[in-house]
Amino acid sequence: MKTFECGSLVPGCDWHTRAEEEAVVVRRAVDHLRTTHGEEVIRPAMVEAIKSRIRDRQPAIREEQRSEA
Ligand SMILES: [Zn+2]
Repeated sequence: MKTFECGSLVPGCDWHTRAEEEAVVVRRAVDHLRTTHGEEVIRPAMVEAIKSRIRDRQPAIREEQRSEA
């Protein structure tokens, strides 16, 4: 599971997304930057910035185990 938090790129923004595929996360993030932050032209450097901030999320089962401990 890949996650991207917009706040890591745009301070103060609490929008985030997650998907199984990195490409899906990037596409959603680009869409968000266009519609919410007025980035009409998404440059390759911006895509790289998004990719560098995408994180792998641990499987949910580990969180369940931790909360029961
Ligand atoms: Zn944002």
